[in-house]
Amino acid sequence: MQFICVHKLTERVDVDNLLITFMNYLDFWKKTKDELKKRLPAHTFDTWFEPMEVLELGVAGTVLQVPNQFFSEWVDTHYSKHILNTINELGVKTKNLKFVVSGEEFKAENVNTNGQPVDYKATARQNRPRHLNSSYTFKRFIEGPNNQFAKAAAQKVSDSPGSQSFNPLVVYGGVGLGKTHLLHAIGNEIIETSPGTKIVIASSEKFTLDFISSIQKNNTAQFSQSYRKADVLLIDDIQFFQKKEQTQEQFFHTFNELYQLGKQIVMTADRYPGEMSGLQDRLLSRFASGLSVDVQPPNYETRIAILMEKAETNGLDLAYDMIEFIAMHLKNSVRELESTIIRLLAHASLAQVDIDFPLVKKVLKERLGDGISADISAEDIINRVADLTNVRSDDIVGPSRRKEIAEARQISVYLCRELLGLSLSTIGMHFGGRDHTTALHACNKVRNSLKSDKRFNRIVGKVKDDFSFAIL
Ligand code: ADP
Ligand code: MG
Repeated sequence: MQFICVHKLTERVDVDNLLITFMNYLDFWKKTKDELKKRLPAHTFDTWFEPMEVLELGVAGTVLQVPNQFFSEWVDTHYSKHILNTINELGVKTKNLKFVVSGEEFKAENVNTNGQPVDYKATARQNRPRHLNSSYTFKRFIEGPNNQFAKAAAQKVSDSPGSQSFNPLVVYGGVGLGKTHLLHAIGNEIIETSPGTKIVIASSEKFTLDFISSIQKNNTAQFSQSYRKADVLLIDDIQFFQKKEQTQEQFFHTFNELYQLGKQIVMTADRYPGEMSGLQDRLLSRFASGLSVDVQPPNYETRIAILMEKAETNGLDLAYDMIEFIAMHLKNSVRELESTIIRLLAHASLAQVDIDFPLVKKVLKERLGDGISADISAEDIINRVADLTNVRSDDIVGPSRRKEIAEARQISVYLCRELLGLSLSTIGMHFGGRDHTTALHACNKVRNSLKSDKRFNRIVGKVKDDFSFAIL
């Protein structure tokens, strides 16, 4: 027999509080996840719930950490009710639910069940700067001719921070090409190999804001100290320093002090530092004393590799021809590739359908609009025909007269004319400097073959299909 002793309660006891105090909130979140797993389709659960981490769970509120902003918006809109209901049903009347993006600062507003401010660091890995995004590692950074040098330089810096020829290191290039990723990868790598190293990572905006607020609060000394104690200083997007004289001054001093002590400084920028206007010359000459490396948009093969990696890490099973299709149309930034994968997942998991070609096209169309084919070049057509005919792109534009190569060349010429409307002489130039009569001959030949040849029809049809959004 079991006896239960009930004390007369003199004070109101919050049962929820008791529950969560007795059960570690991590365990409680695990229980919540197990329950959600039972209630939601596996696909949905794996996509949206596996990557979440709990930072806080209690009556005062629940805070979950998610990998990126899009993720945050998506789960907030589609699943917050599910989550809240489940937590409630399991016995904790949590008041609200909040999502924070990993790597972003989160200020403790709530208190935990003991009435103490929640210590988020306890759940994060010790020693790791809060702003360091743990998913941006070298391992996850796909290398291609466009970023190889930048990656090698970043790795070198992580191996021996402060070595003179790589100090400072500036990684520059267009939006969404992996500069921030590399910057964080340096931090992550160093933390991993020498955990004692003091890493300070901030965007130049944060640096500026910290500086301004230190002026307001009269504690500029503390500001300086927080940056100058760094063994490795990582500053993202220095273009924001342009025209901010006083902040530049501060940065100059921080820079000098660290540099003289042999500390490593790494910066990113959206263009070559020398091309930035509104930066003091002495700052520019400091930057020039180290190494500047650029990142370029990824080529076709690298885009494929990136898409495959992103699909895999997001648990998305994407057929190769769909990957090719996306790679063909999205060329300018890795961020675009990544968010397309996430959007696909989102669509598929919301509608609970498998990902098929129409869905891929729909998602791309949402991103690019109808004008999608305007973005196609002769090179894309040549690459696509090369894939479909098992002939190398180089051969298509080269001198060989072998039958299968000549055919692939003719088909490519025909498609450049049909899909891009290029002039015959321009087409000739794309094909190793052939003249316009050769291009005309190829067009006529293909037109004729299409009347009877099934293989020609299949290849031409497939390329047109891939590049045309009219069929949507
Ligand atoms: P930038 O700072 O140059 O604007 P980011 O570093 O923020 O670009 O990259 C945008 C997104 O693309 C990030 O999620 C990043 O992880 C991803 N990304 C960029 N380059 C690569 C790469 N080479 N391999 C894998 N992911 C990449
Ligand atoms: Mg960036």
